[in-house]
This record gives sequence, C-alpha cells and structure tokens, in this order.
Amino acid sequence: MSVVVQKYGGTSVGDVERIKNVANRIIRRKEAGNELVVVVSAMGKSTDELMQMAHSITDTPKVRELDMLLATGEQVSISMLSMALQSKGCDAISFTGAQIGMRTIGKHGKSRILDIDTKRIQSALDEGKVVIVAGFQGVNENDDITTLGRGGSDTSAVALAAALGCPCEIYTDVDGIYGIDPRRYPDARKLSSVSCDEMLEMASLGAGVMHARAIELGSKYGIEIRVASSMDEIPGTAIKKDMPDSERPVTGLAVDEDESIVTLNGVPYTTQTTARLFSAVAAEGINIDMISQTPQREGTVNLSFSAPTAEIPDLREVLSRYREEFPYKNSHIDENIVKLSVVGSGMRNQSGVALQFFRNFREAKIPVLMITTSDIRISCVIPKEDADKAVELVSRSFGL
Ligand code: ADP
Ligand code: ASP
Ligand code: MG
Repeated sequence: MSVVVQKYGGTSVGDVERIKNVANRIIRRKEAGNELVVVVSAMGKSTDELMQMAHSITDTPKVRELDMLLATGEQVSISMLSMALQSKGCDAISFTGAQIGMRTIGKHGKSRILDIDTKRIQSALDEGKVVIVAGFQGVNENDDITTLGRGGSDTSAVALAAALGCPCEIYTDVDGIYGIDPRRYPDARKLSSVSCDEMLEMASLGAGVMHARAIELGSKYGIEIRVASSMDEIPGTAIKKDMPDSERPVTGLAVDEDESIVTLNGVPYTTQTTARLFSAVAAEGINIDMISQTPQREGTVNLSFSAPTAEIPDLREVLSRYREEFPYKNSHIDENIVKLSVVGSGMRNQSGVALQFFRNFREAKIPVLMITTSDIRISCVIPKEDADKAVELVSRSFGL
C-alpha cells in the first residue's frame, strides 16, 4: 500500500465539525487503499490565543517557555482527530514531535528540522493505524520542545514525506494556489501548477499559503506537493520541481506586510562595516532582504535594509552592539511599509517586465522606496497606505 502524508491547517480543524469532516476524508482515503500519515496544525486561531496568553503575563516571555506553550495547540488537535477517527471505527494514534524523534536545530521559535526517526511511525502504519502527527514542533539537542516558526506545520509535513519517501498533500481553506491571495484580490486566477522556484520566492515574499521552508525541503528531496481545499474535492495546485519557464512574464504577486526598513545614518565607511553588521545579524538568525547604501561622503555612508518586523527587538540589540564598534550618527526604523513582489520564471527570457511593473507606480504616483530583483522576481518597498491600490494595479496589469 502506498503511503501519503496529508496536512490539515488550522481552519480545517477549527472546530469539532471540521475535525469530523477531516476524519471522514481520511477514512475515505484509507478505504481507497492508502496508508496515511496526517500532520495537523492547532485548531483555528488557537496559536494566536496562546501567544496572547503569554503576553498577558509578560511582554518579554522567554522563547523556551513560549515554545513549550505554543506546542500545546497542536497536541490538542492531534488527540481530537485521533479520537474522531477511533470513534468512527478507524484505528489511529497521535504523536507529538518528540515522540517521533523530530529533532531540530537552531533557535526557539524558528528551529529547523534536522532529522526524523520514522521507526515508530512505520510500526504504527504496519499495524494498520492512521498516524496523526503534531505539526510545527520538534525537540532540540537538550530535549527541549521547539517550534518551527509560524505556519511551520507545512514544513513538518513535507519533512515527513521526505523521510518516508512519499507525496505530500496540503489541505487548507482555499482550493489551491492563486496568482495572488484570493482574499486580497477576489479576481485572482488559480494556478493548476507552479514551479518550486516560483513558489519558494512567493512564499518567502509573503504569500502565506505555504511555509517557505516546506518548499525548500520539497525541492531538495524532490517531493511531490499538492495544495488543495479540505472542504471539497476540487483538484488543487501541484508544486513541481521541473517545469519549463512560464510563457507569462509574471506568475504571482506577493505582499509582505510584516517587514520594516532599518536605516543607519553616518556609518563610518571601512571595508569591515557592512560585513561585520550583516554577520552579527546572521548570527542572530535574522533574515534581511533588501540592502542599499549611499555613496561614501566624508568617510561615512547611510545604510538601509529590510528585515521582518518581528525581528526588530533582536535587531535593536545587534545594532547597539554594532554601534559600540562603528559609532554611527543615528538610526531610523520604518514599520509603515510593505514589500510588494512579482514572481515569474517567464521574466527570465522576456524584456520590458520591469517597465510594465514600475509604470503602475509612476502612474498612480506611489513612491517606490527600495528595489531588489532576482532572475525571477522584482520586489519594491512602498508605503503601507498605498498597498491596496498597488496590488490592484499590478495584478490587473499582469492579468494575475
Ligand atoms: P492553513 O491554516 O491551512 O495553513 P494558511 O492561513 O496558512 O492556512 O494559508 C491559507 C491562506 O493563505 C488562505 O486563506 C489565503 O488567504 C492565503 N494566501 C496568501 N497568498 C495566497 C495565494 N497566492 N494563493 C492562495 N492563498 C493564499
Ligand atoms: N499552529 C502554528 C501557527 O499557527 C503552525 C501552523 O499553523 O502551521 O503558526
Ligand atoms: Mg499555513
């Protein structure tokens, strides 16, 4: 019998009725002849609620304790789903990350999966059970519970599929991947397939439908990933590793509302400065994206870069250490921005895409504060207040 990993997100297991619906889907699939390993997220918005609970005790909860708390959300849903299956006569067993040896490395709150010991899963499958696994969590070298970053259950699922050598089906509250978040732009078109490269860019640039690391793992291990609805049987979107470049210049648009721009003015210019700053930032596991630097004037430069807003407290700490070494004049953090990106493998061999993109901003008089590009994306930073207008114009201009 062939194994398949399925993953159901928070909304899909948001209440008892939905858990029963997921149980019915699992049973139908098992009856069709598959062995199932099912990864689930915490019910509904319970991870947000747990986070609020932590912050009602202290503004600065220790990350170890936060992981301990957040991981309980998934423990609720795995046991509920397992009970729902058992009550319908389907043998099932739930496991936490620790129980299946989901070993992680890295910092609490953004750990990465190192290894999974599939022995326990395999023997439960051999006994004919449906295996239910808590997404989003693992254990580190100290046996402490860790989490993989918000949205990380997708990554748990793809990592399990890689360890078991099987396909991965992601079930969520939309019926596939669209050129742009259909809640943001209701006219968006659904994609029947998308390349790993494009999806990785879209996920990293704010398309919250998939956790970026899940795509990275899927691409590395050649896992077949399909994203579809947990509510109906419509075929979703296949994320494929080997796909010819698209004929359309742009496949998707993503908006990242959780980025800020950090500017340091009057940084002493030496060959060391930027390297030292960015190595200190990297050592904290902070991901920065856009970087710009003014030409040197009187021995100093102004340096700007974008970083996730959630990382700003850690970043402030790095900046104050850096200031001791390279005393800069002042710093400024702007949180009122968004990063808007268009992604498409088709732009590799088509000209005029940047012109078509930026013309929208010029015509609507939207200031573009920063720009970066790769061979398959163009990103720019604009004021938050202009985001909706820009999304509408760019989506229409590329027919997304
Ligand atoms: P889950 O809880 O199932 O993991 P998420 O909320 O993480 O669900 O992801 C699904 C959501 O992603 C959708 O409700 C949709 O609003 C959003 N989304 C963002 N970008 C896209 C896109 N390009 N295509 C489809 N959905 C998207
Ligand atoms: N429950 C976690 C979150 O809300 C993980 C996930 O949903 O993938 O971020
Ligand atoms: Mg998700």
